[in-house]
Amino acid sequence: MIPQNFIEEVQSRTDIVELISSYIPLKRTGRNFKALCPFHGEKTPSFIISPQKQIFHCFGCGEGGGVFHFLSLIEKVTFPESVEILAKRLGLSLPAEKGAPAKLKSILYEASNEASLFFHDNLKNNSYCKPVLQHLKERGIAEKTIDTFRLGAALSGNYLMEHLRKKGFRLEALEKASLIIPKKDGYRDLFSDRIIFPIFDVRSRVVGFGARTWREDRNAPKYINSLEGILYHKRDHLFGLNHTKDFISQEDSVLITEGYLDMITPFMRGVKNIVASLGTALTLEQIRLIKRYTSNVILVFDSDKAGQNATLRSIDLLLENDMKACVASLPKGFDPDSLIRSQGIASFNKCLEQKRDFFNHKLALLKSEHEPKSIEGKTKIAQSMLATINKLQSEIKKYEYIKNLSFELDVKEEILIAEFKKMFKDNNRQKNTALSYDSSKLNSRVQKKEPIPITEKIILKFMFTNQKAFILIKDNLKERDFTSSFSRKAITYFFNNHPLAGEESIAKTIARIDDKEVSGFVCEILMDEDIPEDKNVFKKSLLKLKKRHTQEFKDSLRDEMRLAQIQGDSQRLTELINEFSRLGLKENQ
Ligand code: ZN
Repeated sequence: MIPQNFIEEVQSRTDIVELISSYIPLKRTGRNFKALCPFHGEKTPSFIISPQKQIFHCFGCGEGGGVFHFLSLIEKVTFPESVEILAKRLGLSLPAEKGAPAKLKSILYEASNEASLFFHDNLKNNSYCKPVLQHLKERGIAEKTIDTFRLGAALSGNYLMEHLRKKGFRLEALEKASLIIPKKDGYRDLFSDRIIFPIFDVRSRVVGFGARTWREDRNAPKYINSLEGILYHKRDHLFGLNHTKDFISQEDSVLITEGYLDMITPFMRGVKNIVASLGTALTLEQIRLIKRYTSNVILVFDSDKAGQNATLRSIDLLLENDMKACVASLPKGFDPDSLIRSQGIASFNKCLEQKRDFFNHKLALLKSEHEPKSIEGKTKIAQSMLATINKLQSEIKKYEYIKNLSFELDVKEEILIAEFKKMFKDNNRQKNTALSYDSSKLNSRVQKKEPIPITEKIILKFMFTNQKAFILIKDNLKERDFTSSFSRKAITYFFNNHPLAGEESIAKTIARIDDKEVSGFVCEILMDEDIPEDKNVFKKSLLKLKKRHTQEFKDSLRDEMRLAQIQGDSQRLTELINEFSRLGLKENQ
C-alpha cells in the first residue's frame, strides 16, 4: 500500500495538461484543451482536458479521470504502478515498504531472473540437455518460441544452486525464491530433470516457474511449480500475458486456456490474444488482471469433467465481475496443444468460430445431463440456469436471459421470475431490500440505452464539489433512489468509500477513485457545462428525487403484491401490505 499522502503529493505536483501532451497533441479551446481520444478511434476530437479541475474526459468513449487514471490507461499499468511511474518522473522515491521487505523482494526478483537465464542457457547450450531440446522440437516448438518464452531445462543435481551461489546469492534468499528446498543434509534444487517454463508477471519480471517432466513414463508428478511465497502467488498471474496483453487490447478479447503448451502452441501459429490460467478455474485476481485489457473472455478449457466444472465456475465469476463469457469447446479428448498438433490450426480456429455464449453453453450442458421435457429435468435446468443468470450485473440482462430461458424450456416468464425471486430473496434482502425494487424493474418498461435524468446529474455534480451536499444526500437518499445504473454505481461507490470528506480539491477526489467506470462517469458530469451548479437547483432536485421515488417504490410494491396474489403467497402479501402502509404514513407526516 502506497501511503495516501504520498499519492496526493504526486498528484498535486503533476500537471495533467503537461502529462497528456507528452503523449498526444493538444489544442486549447477556451478554458479547456481538446484532443483526439487515444483510447478509441475518432476523427473529431471529443477528448477534453480541464487544467482547472486537473481531469480529463472523453465524450466519445466515456473514459475519464485524473493523472493516475490516464497513465494507467495509456501505459496499461495498475493504479499503484501509475503512482510509481509518476513519482519517478518527479524524482520522488516511493516510501519503502517498511524498509527491508522491499529490498528482499528485489533480491528475489534478481535471483529468479538469473535462474531463468541459467535454465534457458542449459537448454540451448548444454549437451546434456540435447534430448530435452529434441523433445520440444518434436512437439513442434520452434527455436524462436523457446527464446520468446525463455523456456529452459533443469538437469538433475544442484547445478542451479551452485550457479547462483557463485553469483553471490545467499541460500536463504534462494529458498525464499522457491528455487531450492531444505533437506536433512542441506539444500537441493527444487527442479531437476525437467522442462522449465518461467512465469512472468505483466511487467515481464520472472516471479516463478512451472516445470514439466519430458519423459512420459516417469513415476514423478507431471508438473512441479514454484511454492507460493513472497514473489509467487499462483492466483495473481496468467501465463503469457506479458507477451499478449497488447494483442488482447487490440482484439478486445482473450482466450483462456489451462496449460503452458495450450497457450504456446496456438500463439506460435498466430493466435495471439491468449493466456493460460495456470490452474483450472479462474481466480478473482486473474479476472481483475484481464479486465485491464478486455471484458470479453473466451474459455477454452479441457473437455473432461474437471475442465467442464472449471468452465462453469469461471463463467459465474466472470459474470459477477461484469465480464462477457463465451466458451469454445474442443472435440473430446483434446486440449488446444494436442488438437493443433494432430489436426492443425484450422481445426482449432473452427472451434473458436463455433464458440457459444455462457447461456447457450451451460444450457446445452444441462440438457445433456437432465431430460428437459420432464418436470424434474425442467426444474433442475431452470434452477441451475437462474443461479448463473443471477450473477449478471445488469437487471436488463437478467430479464433478457430469463426471457430466453422461458422460450428454451417452455416455462412461462412470470413463473421463472417468481422462482428467481424465491431463490434469491434472502440474498437480496440483505442488500437493503434492493431487489424488491430492482426486480420490479424487470416487469416495467426497460430502456436499452439509459439516459441519465437531469435531476440525478444535478445532485451528483453538486455532491462532488460540496461536502455538505454529500452528507445531505447520504442522510436523505438511498442507492436505489437513483434510476440510472451509472448514478447508482457512483453513489454506491462514494457511500462505501466516502472519499468526499474534507475540503478537498476535485482532483484529489478523482485521484482516489480506483474504479474505471465511476471515474469516467464522474468526469463526464463534472465536464458537462449544461448541468447547473447551484445550491437552490440542487435542493429542489433532491426533494424531487425523494418524492418521485417514494411513488415509484409504491408502484413496485403494487406489482409485487399482484404477483404474491397470483402465487397465493399470503405471508409475503401481508408483509408487502404492511410495508406499503408504512410508506403512506411517512408521506403524511
Ligand atoms: Zn475516447
